[in-house]
Amino acid sequence: MARYANVIVDISMEKLDRTFQYRIPEALRKDLRVGMQVVVPFGKGTRTLTGYVVELTDVCEFEPARLKEIEAVSEKGIPLEGQLIALAQWMRRNYGATMNQALKTVLPVRKKVREKTRRKLVRVISLKEAESFLKLFERKHQTARLRLLAALTDTPEVDYRLASEQLHLTASTIKKLEEMGILRVETVTLSRNPVRVSKMQAHPFDLTKAQQAAAEDIKRRRMAGDRRPALIHGVTGSGKTAVYLELIADVLAEGREAIVLIPEIALTFQTAMRFYKRFGDQVSILNSRLSAGERYDQLERARRGEVRVMIGPRSALFTPFQNLGIIVIDEEHEASYKSETAPRYHARETAIERARMAGAVVVLGSATPSVESYEKAQNGTYCLYKLEQRVFGQALPSVEVVDLRQELRMGNRSILSGRLRELMEDRLGKGQQIMLFLNRRGYAGFVSCRACGHVLKCPHCDVSMSLHMGGRMVCHYCGYEERERKKCPSCGSPYIGAFRAGTQQAAELVKREFPGARVLRMDMDTTKNKDGHEKILEAFAEGQADILVGTQMIVKGHDFPAVTLVGILAADLSLYAGDYRASERTFQLLTQAAGRAGRGQEEGIAVIQTYSPDHYSIVTAAAQDYGSFFQQELRYRRLMEYPPVAHLLAVCLSGREKEQLEDGAGRVKTELQKWIGSSSVQLIGPADAYVAKVNDIYRKVVYLKAKELEQLAELKEQLELFWQEQTEIQPLNIQFDMNPMSGY
Ligand code: ADP
Ligand code: ZN
Ligand code: ZN
Repeated sequence: MARYANVIVDISMEKLDRTFQYRIPEALRKDLRVGMQVVVPFGKGTRTLTGYVVELTDVCEFEPARLKEIEAVSEKGIPLEGQLIALAQWMRRNYGATMNQALKTVLPVRKKVREKTRRKLVRVISLKEAESFLKLFERKHQTARLRLLAALTDTPEVDYRLASEQLHLTASTIKKLEEMGILRVETVTLSRNPVRVSKMQAHPFDLTKAQQAAAEDIKRRRMAGDRRPALIHGVTGSGKTAVYLELIADVLAEGREAIVLIPEIALTFQTAMRFYKRFGDQVSILNSRLSAGERYDQLERARRGEVRVMIGPRSALFTPFQNLGIIVIDEEHEASYKSETAPRYHARETAIERARMAGAVVVLGSATPSVESYEKAQNGTYCLYKLEQRVFGQALPSVEVVDLRQELRMGNRSILSGRLRELMEDRLGKGQQIMLFLNRRGYAGFVSCRACGHVLKCPHCDVSMSLHMGGRMVCHYCGYEERERKKCPSCGSPYIGAFRAGTQQAAELVKREFPGARVLRMDMDTTKNKDGHEKILEAFAEGQADILVGTQMIVKGHDFPAVTLVGILAADLSLYAGDYRASERTFQLLTQAAGRAGRGQEEGIAVIQTYSPDHYSIVTAAAQDYGSFFQQELRYRRLMEYPPVAHLLAVCLSGREKEQLEDGAGRVKTELQKWIGSSSVQLIGPADAYVAKVNDIYRKVVYLKAKELEQLAELKEQLELFWQEQTEIQPLNIQFDMNPMSGY
């Protein structure tokens, strides 16, 4: 039983760094927990303060004699702040971080909020008049105006920013409707909710049998106190969201609150409106565009009970609800649920821990569940629900695989196979839209010599550089640039050139081959500017282009009903990314990309071009057979002992001095080996990171693999302590990543 407690006496943001250590009196030692509120003496004299226990320890940081003693536990139970603090402690231990970093992640950042104003759009014409305008816009193919007015017939008023961002509207479209006397722009204070709904819809439609069965069973289990997470495996368009709404309604009726996590890129206006329409102004949405003040304001409203359904990306998980009843995680397989800064927590696992503390249930949903979750659903840790049909019975797109090796043998060196080109001609002839998908950006891929195989790399970052327009070679880590070489620097051969696999280059080629078609490109380069992303999607949705060429950005979120053909130009690019999740990621990407075809009336086709047509990721994605994919993937994970069969901890070391880094990595390895001893934990490395040098900083990785997560958490704790004591290696940086989502 720990003898000392680290206590935080003020959780306002600026003081989070300061914890104070106290002795735990004998009588309290048994029951004191992290997160409990305690009364402690503070400063000189008899002043006392209330604080939270953030850590229990046997390590005394001062002279034990000079430590004061905790006076009392001020409340039984653990209050909300205490729960979040305990969650931070759990995250710190499992993912690696300082307590301060963990606390900053879970506690709302306190900022002075000025009462700010925002604009809203108010419809000023009657519904009947709106009808005739809708017909007019439709006839004239003014789709942006149509979208805006359609939204305003659903609800009498809507937030300006919500409308412009999530309906992809320009200021001029809004202004036009204002000039036409259709709407008025009004200014309101910030604390008002962004949407007013005319009438809350209890049930806009009856649930299908499958939806009903899932919802009823999850409700029944919740009532019975079964706290196992539920996984809803439902094909796209099977109506998962409707099930979430039903479950949330149930929880709200009980006086409890709901958190809904949706990847930001998938949170469309339509989805947001479905929540507003059902639950009215109890709903709030967090997104990365909110300022710190706005964000804090929304979190405070949640604490006060004015907001009861919080929707947002990963960090919405820490909404300070007093009486949390449910956490929904949509698209639970998404990599964006893993934090990229310490603590590198996974929102799914952390949600399950928070729900455990709060007595809430977790509901996960996906068309392509993560291998982790599906495995837990198979072994009974989670409960599995399947929605196998689309709500309106539409067929899933048909998928064809094209062997690029065969194309090459037939003398076709283009990035478009014969079959894809033929289908493109057909679609263009019918006035339908096409999406071409390439998971790489830039004018072309890496530059290599066909004579000797030499690849041109950035001298600072050790990554291959990409050839851009105007003969520039660019490093995508540090931005270093060089002019394009005419001769190979290694062998002098003139046969040096680019691996043709960039979105820009693909777009140029498509333009050349289909001179009549209007082509749009969407990748990191074209979306660098604020709103760049929105503008391109808007233009495409409005039919201003026939073909959209893009990176993975185009496979998520918005529906484009006129798209009937999706081409995946080179599936191999993600297949050989060099980490154990590459096959899973490829399956998910291909399934999602294929799902973009045929959302409207017309049936859709997806064409997957690849050099590896026999790879199971590609075969099963083409067959849209999640079950087979899962079986084969799990076999591979078992064989190699990768998660979810085992756990993998990446210990990432970096530093400016190469020798110091090598020395540090060696010592880390020696220490770890000592602690591992004869246990079953495996140590791999140290190895250079995939990118061994970024911005003149060298990087190395040591991997630890173990059956039990706890074994790795314990080793990490020891290593963190060891690190604190070793002053000579401290110029090096150490970071942990438990079960990383990609390679290092
Ligand atoms: P998913 O999240 O599984 O992709 P959604 O919940 O978005 O699917 O549902 C797809 C579409 O079907 C939505 O437009 C939704 O309004 C509609 N829908 C869902 N359930 C029903 C139902 N029971 N009856 C009629 N329409 C439904
Ligand atoms: Zn060469
Ligand atoms: Zn570089």
